[in-house]
Amino acid sequence: MKVVVLGAGVVGTTSAWYLAQSGHEVLVVDRQPEPGLETSFANGGQISVSHAEPWANPGAPFNVLRWLGREDAPLLFRAGADPHQWIWGLKFLFECLPSRTRRNTAQAFALALYSREQLRLLRSETGIAYDELSRGILQFFTHRRDFERARAQIDLLRARGFDSVAKNADECVEVEPALAHARRLIAGGIYTASDESGDARMFTCRLAELAKAAGAVFRHHINVCAIEVQAGRVLRIAIDDEAGIGESLRADAYVVALGSYSPLLLRPIGISIPVYPVKGYSVTLPLRPGDVAPEVSLTDDYYKLVFSRLGSRLRVAGTAELNGYDTSLNEARCAALLRRCRELFPTAGTDESAQFWTGLRPATPANLPCIGRTRYANLYLNTGHGTLGWTMACGSGKALADIVKGERPEVDFGFMGLESGTRAGTLAAVPRPSNS
Ligand SMILES: Cc1cc2nc3c(=O)[nH]c(=O)nc-3n(C[C@H](O)[C@H](O)[C@H](O)COP(=O)(O)OP(=O)(O)OC[C@H]3O[C@@H](n4cnc5c(N)ncnc54)[C@H](O)[C@@H]3O)c2cc1C
Repeated sequence: MKVVVLGAGVVGTTSAWYLAQSGHEVLVVDRQPEPGLETSFANGGQISVSHAEPWANPGAPFNVLRWLGREDAPLLFRAGADPHQWIWGLKFLFECLPSRTRRNTAQAFALALYSREQLRLLRSETGIAYDELSRGILQFFTHRRDFERARAQIDLLRARGFDSVAKNADECVEVEPALAHARRLIAGGIYTASDESGDARMFTCRLAELAKAAGAVFRHHINVCAIEVQAGRVLRIAIDDEAGIGESLRADAYVVALGSYSPLLLRPIGISIPVYPVKGYSVTLPLRPGDVAPEVSLTDDYYKLVFSRLGSRLRVAGTAELNGYDTSLNEARCAALLRRCRELFPTAGTDESAQFWTGLRPATPANLPCIGRTRYANLYLNTGHGTLGWTMACGSGKALADIVKGERPEVDFGFMGLESGTRAGTLAAVPRPSNS
């Protein structure tokens, strides 16, 4: 079958890889000159399975109010005129209900765990390297109350099969000696040795090369203009080609993996998905010999920042801002990132060499991606991965390829157009999704 994948971020590229592995003829198109140049470019690098719980939780509305109007706030809602932003905000509030949080958390953990299995399998089968580290994630707390609350939840993590353990401040420094300078700031931490980290962009580029070797074709500088439908099917994709000239792409099946831009292409054909861009920041610091920087990936709970060692670089990422599709750098937020990094790791790189970046997380209110079938028989979605697109990419790509093949994915997740179920096997009749 000929399949066109729209988007060559980490999600589109993993989709292409698994589709090619299923024997399909795959074409990937993207407007950028190379894979992984938008949201997958400079993210936090964490494969954070043990932190897969969604942002929307019963404590979130309080935090949003607490941070309202603060330029350096970890989560900032900039009230605009866009009705989609308001609708997203209201749905986010709904997902903060305890029952919704429980449901969303269970789903996120299931997909994240499955995804890590697929990533490990891919690594052992292909030898793909991407500055990966399997040294775990240490979530550290600067406020004792927050640490105690997290410690009280640790049994839940362990019940889900995680190897998470509570650490006092000295033990945190034993896990990651680079924290020695910040010892006095740390109240305690939760360490999960099975978590991982790595460079999502490097992974995306290298997987694209492997997919090409397996027969997939990548076309860049292609702007996807419209999805054209007829009689319940996608007829063709209208694009501007490499020379900016209008062209049509035809295939047997189509996969939308356009990150934050997916809803803009889907809305005109009557598919409404609750994906909205949530802007995040990162700073990458090239390290000099002798610099003290962490190797264990870290999550700074109070500031909602993550730190990942990517070869000879340190990546610091975080903050969330609802501000439409604006990707400009805000100086106050850049300065806040660097300030915190300096407080913890004063000799990690130099301020002059710091590379700042922003990206738009394709976020859903529940922080669960939209993967599966749509009301158009040959149109599939793999988008809306929010804060966890790198963590969930391989599992999502594999599951999507299974669905395109007509098989039920091996993981129990709320895939679109499929009823929830645990057993892998051939899919029966195609049910129409209610949310498309
Ligand atoms: C600051 C920050 C930190 C993060 N940290 C982590 C982390 O530690 N762990 C984790 O798991 N996740 C993290 N994430 C989330 C993760 O980066 C995203 O979920 C993931 O990159 C989304 O991938 P994607 O392929 O869906 O989107 P993208 O990477 O944006 O890919 C979409 C592609 O579609 C293309 N495209 C869009 N519109 C068009 C069009 N009209 N025509 C042609 N091409 C088009 C774009 O060029 C792009 O290449 C972080 C995100 C941010 C912003």
